[in-house]
Amino acid sequence: MSIFKDILNFLLPPRCINCGKIITDENGLCADCFNQITFISEPYCKCCGAPFIDVVGANRHMLCPNCIKNKKKLFRYARAAIKYEDVSKNMILAFKFMDKTENAKVFAKWLKMAGADIFSSGVDVLIPVPLHYKRLIKRRYNQSALLANELKFLVNIPTDFKSLVKHKSTKPQVSFSGNARVKNIKGAFEVRCPQNIKDKRIVLIDDVQTTGSTLNECAKVLLKAGAKSVDFLTIARVYK
Ligand SMILES: [Zn+2]
Ligand SMILES: [Zn+2]
Repeated sequence: MSIFKDILNFLLPPRCINCGKIITDENGLCADCFNQITFISEPYCKCCGAPFIDVVGANRHMLCPNCIKNKKKLFRYARAAIKYEDVSKNMILAFKFMDKTENAKVFAKWLKMAGADIFSSGVDVLIPVPLHYKRLIKRRYNQSALLANELKFLVNIPTDFKSLVKHKSTKPQVSFSGNARVKNIKGAFEVRCPQNIKDKRIVLIDDVQTTGSTLNECAKVLLKAGAKSVDFLTIARVYK
């Protein structure tokens, strides 16, 4: 098998998913790009995954002030692989809008690493955040479904692309901020097959978590349909 891999690497050498330079490392980035991306690492909040910066004595069992205050969270764990900033933003936009779909393989590896706490706590199914069918026709693919489809082979957990649907077309969340995002996405999702959701521990997969309004709205309908727990797993996350 490794001979075939060597031949394949010779004919089609792996390239940095950001700048296209030929690389030898399997993490998908060249050294220059790797240095410009912030991988989120411990210590971070056990629940929402927000990194503890300059917190003396911080450890992996601690909660951030937001999670201590907010007892009504809709998710069990939220994790992201990298911070959403200049370089990572370009990489994700290329994946989402410019047909760089082959990058899903590398991103799925990152998701597996970032989601270690989620997977060790037990998960039944991976569900990508769905697109409205009109958006799907326009874009031709759902980037979150591509991620879930690659991740399922790495973690051996099935996907479900049918039970959660976006039945209401909404304006892109990027045009709104704060509460307007919550309002824009409210009522946009529904569970079509509650029998597939009942008592399931679900991981919602998306490309970016900004304020979390989309993921929270999905979690709301999944929990209402009887899901046991919902986790959020994204490539990147916005931290101020
Ligand atoms: Zn590069
Ligand atoms: Zn937290």
